[in-house]
Amino acid sequence: MADIAPLVHFDGEIMPRERAGIAITASATLYGMSIYTVTHAHITDGEARIFRLPDHQARLHKSAAMIGMRNAATDITDEMISDAVAQVIRANAPTSDCFVRITIHAVSDVPGVRTADLKLTLSVFLYDARPILPPDGATLKTSLWRRTRDDAIPARAKVCGAYVNSCLAKQDALDAGCDDALFLNHDGFVSELTAANIFLVRDGTLITPDTSSDILEGITRRTILEIARTHDITVCERKVAITEVYTADEVFACGTSAFVTPITAIDNRPIGTGQCGPLTEQLRDALHAMQTNPSHGHLMRIALTTQ
Ligand code: PMP
Repeated sequence: MADIAPLVHFDGEIMPRERAGIAITASATLYGMSIYTVTHAHITDGEARIFRLPDHQARLHKSAAMIGMRNAATDITDEMISDAVAQVIRANAPTSDCFVRITIHAVSDVPGVRTADLKLTLSVFLYDARPILPPDGATLKTSLWRRTRDDAIPARAKVCGAYVNSCLAKQDALDAGCDDALFLNHDGFVSELTAANIFLVRDGTLITPDTSSDILEGITRRTILEIARTHDITVCERKVAITEVYTADEVFACGTSAFVTPITAIDNRPIGTGQCGPLTEQLRDALHAMQTNPSHGHLMRIALTTQ
């Protein structure tokens, strides 16, 4: 379990985490009707550097729009989210890197199964930036559970209730002795992991499932594509077959909580050399530089006052 910072932002206030709670009668509790995101905060030199917060805000609001949570754009503005993040960071003054979890909860009581005109509440909390996959290499099992289709629960929308799909696949993988699951979509193409996107390298080309492969459009995925393009690495977003992954030179997972993690085996088949490949290492280092060094841009800097 992650170590959670003691002070949280809930419903407009900073408070001890034990005081912040959603009612058992809320739509969020009853139907999983909440949307969320997680970003990374690098702590150094008396400041927190928050990675790509505007992209996370935009994805939250797109998720809300997709599922018809129509009042999210006006009720929980980007400014409210940035302020809440800054307040939580300042209140806890973390001393090491952390993840920042931002959730918009639908808190109307027993509203029935609808998504619009629900009362919305924002929460933000911090927890240790401990990676969700073993950083030196993770093993995957192709999931017996398929990724939810775009016309069932869109994977593109980061809706809390949709994460039951990820929970089922992750448990299946853990039970099989693997670190994570690899989802296929209903067309049988490779989609993503339970909380990370996937890339493969074949003959020097960086390939990743396209945005119509029932994936979450990861902000780390976008960052990796941008880094690759600036380094003149050929990139290709397209449908990916599982046997292409089995025979790839390198495979890696990427996401806020997975960073860049080399995948060393899938379904008991070793990938490449079974070690972190050279392109994976280059991209992992470049992502780390972007998340830590303000000269790369994309970082919101919050000064920390020592107490
Ligand atoms: N796919 C899923 C299903 C996820 O939950 C995540 C984590 N948010 C990702 C991919 C990676 O997205 P990001 O890079 O924005 O963290």
